[in-house]
Order: sequence, then C-alpha cells, then structure tokens
Amino acid sequence: MTTPATSPATLPGLMQPAPLQIIDILRFAATAHGSVEVVSRLIDEPIARSTYAEEFRRAGQAAGALVRLGARSGDRIASLAWNTHRHFELFYAVTGLGAVLNTVNPRLFDEQIVFILNHAEPDILLFDKTFLPLVERLAPQMKTVTKFVMLCDRTVHEVGAVGALCYEDLLEAEHGDLTWPVVDENAGAFLCYTSGTTGDPKGVLYSHRAVVLHAMASGLSSAFGFTAFDVVMPCSSLFHATAWGLPFAAPINGCKLVLPCERMDGASLQELILSEGVTFSGGVPTIWTMYLEHLERTGQAPGQLKRLVIGGSAVPRAMAEKFKKTHGVQVLQIWGMTETAPLGVIATPTPALAALGEEAIDEAIWTRQGRLQFGIELRVVDDQGNDVPRDGESSGALLVRGPWTIRRYFRAPADAVNAEGWFDTGDIATLDQFGFMRITDRKKDVIKSGGEWISSIDLENIAVAYPGVKIAAVVGIPHPKWEERPLLVLETHPGAEVDAASVLAHMAEHIAKWQLPDQVVFDAVPLTATGKIDKKTLRRAYADRYS
Ligand code: ADP
Repeated sequence: MTTPATSPATLPGLMQPAPLQIIDILRFAATAHGSVEVVSRLIDEPIARSTYAEEFRRAGQAAGALVRLGARSGDRIASLAWNTHRHFELFYAVTGLGAVLNTVNPRLFDEQIVFILNHAEPDILLFDKTFLPLVERLAPQMKTVTKFVMLCDRTVHEVGAVGALCYEDLLEAEHGDLTWPVVDENAGAFLCYTSGTTGDPKGVLYSHRAVVLHAMASGLSSAFGFTAFDVVMPCSSLFHATAWGLPFAAPINGCKLVLPCERMDGASLQELILSEGVTFSGGVPTIWTMYLEHLERTGQAPGQLKRLVIGGSAVPRAMAEKFKKTHGVQVLQIWGMTETAPLGVIATPTPALAALGEEAIDEAIWTRQGRLQFGIELRVVDDQGNDVPRDGESSGALLVRGPWTIRRYFRAPADAVNAEGWFDTGDIATLDQFGFMRITDRKKDVIKSGGEWISSIDLENIAVAYPGVKIAAVVGIPHPKWEERPLLVLETHPGAEVDAASVLAHMAEHIAKWQLPDQVVFDAVPLTATGKIDKKTLRRAYADRYS
C-alpha cells in the first residue's frame, strides 16, 4: 500500500460551514412540505391531525415552555412516551435548544428506569398519561427530576402525586416564534440506553451530525427508498433508538407521518393503514406476526402498504414470503443496534442479484440482514482479528465503523472502539460477495455443541415456518456430554395443534441431524423490553433440562 506524502496543511474548502442541525429537518419540512399531515393516536384523546408547518410551530412553543421551566443547552430532558405527535415535537424542541432528549424505554424494569434517570440526570421528565402510576411509584428514587409534565391536554390532565403540569397548557402560553440557537453539529442530541440484557443499561449519546447524516442516508433508494408520495408509520418505538430515525427520514423526504401511539395490535394498525393510506411501516417481527394473524383472521388486505422494514431480531423467512406472495408487500430486513443510531444494513436488491433471477433476490432479502450501505463500514473477523473470506459461509465477529457509530458510552472512562475506530457489535455474522451480511447469532446466544457452533437464529427460522407455530425460540442448555445442546421452545397460534415430532421431522429436512434440538417444549415465549426473544430467561427456566 502506498501512503500519500503528507503536506503541511490542506487547502481550506470555500463552502459554508453550516452545522448539520436536527431542527433544520423540521424547518425544511415546514417550508417545503408545510401542508403534509402528521396524524397521531393519543391516550384517552381523539386522533390528532396537524401538518409539518404546525409541528414546527408547536416545536417552537414546546421549546419556549421548556426554557421557561429552566432548560438550558447541554441539559438532559427525559421522556417516557409512546409514538405520538407530542413525542415527535420533543425530538425537535429539545434538541433544537441544544439540550439532549433522554428517551426512556418504559418497558424496562423499575430498577433499570431508575438507573437510567439517575445516570442521565434530567431535571424535567415529560410522560404520557399511561405512565402516571409508574412515575408516581419511581419519583421518590429519581435523584434529579424536579419537574414533571404530562403529555396531554386539559380535558384528560391529572396532576397526580408528582404535581404534573399539563403539556398543552404550557404550549398555549407560548407564541412559538422562537429564534433557534446555532448548535454545534457534534453536540449531543439524544441519549438512548441499551436495554442492559447484560449488566446495567449503557447510554449512547447521538450527535446532531450523526442523526442528520443517518436521516439523509436512510431515505435513499438503496435503503428505505422514500418519496414525497410515501405515508410512513413508525411502529418501532420512538423511545428505542429514535424509532430507526423515521421521525427524521420522513420529514426530510416530505412523507406524511402516521403515529400509532401504543396501539400496535393487528386491528389498530390495520385501521390506520387503511384510513391514512400508509405505504411504508417498520417494526420488530412480533408486531408483524400479530398483523399477519389479523389479516388472516379477517380476510382483509393491507390497503396501500407496499414496503415493510423489519428488524431488531431476525425476520422469519416465512413471514417475508407470506407478505410478498399473499399480500404483495415487500419486506426489507434491517440490522442495526442502539450503538449504530440505529441503521446498519438493509436488504435491498442490486443488479448483480437481479441477474440471477427473482428467486435470488428473494433469497438474499429474506435470509440476509442487509447489504453494505454508505456511512457504515463492516468487517467480519476471526479470533485473531483477521478478516474472514467474503463467501457467505465463513463467520466471525462483526465490527462496524462510521459517522453514526458509537465512539464511547455516556460517562464511560474509555472509548468503546479499538484504535482504528472499530466497534465490536457482539454479533456473529457472515459477508458474501454481493456485500450482503447475515447474522448467525449474538455471541452470547450461539450454541456450542461438541466443539461445533449451532446458530440459534437458523433453527428458529426453520421451526417458525411450520404451520401453527407463532414464535420459535432456540437456546443452548448445559449438557453433561456435549457442553450445550439446543432446546426448542414453541409458542403456537391459538387453537393450533402442533406436535413436537412433526416439527422436528420438518426441521430435519433442512439441517444436519446433530443440529436438531434434543427436546421441544410448548410454552409462552418471553420477550425483552425491546421485543426480542428473552433468551436469558429461557436459559434460566430450562437450565436443568439436560442434566
Ligand atoms: P437491545 O437494547 O435490545 O440490545 P438493540 O436494538 O441495540 O437493542 O439490539 C441490537 C441487536 O439486535 C443487534 O446487535 C442484533 O443482535 C440484534 N438485531 C437487530 N436487528 C437484527 C436482525 N435483523 N436480525 C438479527 N438480529 C438483529
């Protein structure tokens, strides 16, 4: 490799050094797509309809109200809130002030919520009415929160034991014509915590620059492929890694935005999909399992819905196939994590694949997590840190790097990346010659049997395709002879009759015999606060199964 000779100085560029600021996304949408609607379900209130122009004004009012409550740049301001237009406004109001929005996942355990709030140290907490009992219960343990605001209007407002102020009353007192400060593009904007499946939750502090670049990249035709004709409904939670950046990518592209609040059941989603003309949605697989079930039960069709991005855990191939073949909906799998703000890769077709035929495209899109995107570099390395061949077979630790990848956790003493800036994701993956990446497991979930590795994701994917199976979970259970052996836990659709021997016979058609689970258990499959299969709980529950 040749290294270019270093010159003493580079020639300064002569373009404007305008910082990338999150508020400019909403300002742009208000100017260029001002009449495009933002529609939101709410708790105990009718559906709210506004526009990007109104949302920009309301964000100004919210920012004014926060300043009146004492907010300053650099402060953390916490939210415990669903997918609503009020939470959406706060994404812009808080960050537009140069403060940091700490979106707390309300599905976490009490101790984790308290840990996060005491670690982030917000003074103000804004919450949806649903969470009043939670906030009242935990308030005595919150060391820094002194002001509570309920995200509601006067008609449903409750002061509660915490003396909560009413959000709409606060907004009404503000004119919203704010002069937004200029904020450094490298300043913190969102503080999102990982769910802490191992140890305490860790804070990832997104900068304005990371969020804006991510928003620009995720709308591209090689990714979500947004146009101003799209109607986007984020079903990934606004409190979890900013709902995959959809609250930014939608306004940047002038897409109508539909916010389902907490109602992610099949019937409620279908109602919005039909009434609002939703063309694009995204969320974890469990939501779309419920949605498919609803379509099947009612015989309904998914209206204008064209594209679904699904990620957070592996998309069952059977689900993607069903969406396409029965309903004409294209599933795009994504992989990412809180630490990648969160989009890493997305599975979209390429001409090289198309040349191999439609089946090759389906196969790649349904069974791979996604392909390389500009802005996030990937490496798959072996135990010695050497790159493994890009053959779609050789697996290793997945490392990532780029402008929206974490450098250091909030308040951590050292960087989370190596000297070259690579972050170890904790996932095991393969890369192929087309640039497609496949996750075979999380490092801690891979099953080690007799010196060989078994991918729990592969086994789950095959088992869940069996008729009547709703969720399939595979975990490694300690075994006296083989170190670990797979156990299959099946949750079936209500009323479905599934027998273990038939599922195993079906699996045996697709995998080597030694990979077959030794036992099958029929049980409800527990999920984590971010909608993933809770393997820790399963491993604990069945720890003695093979001893
Ligand atoms: P949590 O707090 O639940 O860990 P994250 O969103 O940060 O939340 O989780 C990221 C992890 O989720 C990834 O490291 C990976 O293991 C898993 N994941 C995300 N998307 C996929 C996918 N499409 N297929 C398989 N695993 C995925």
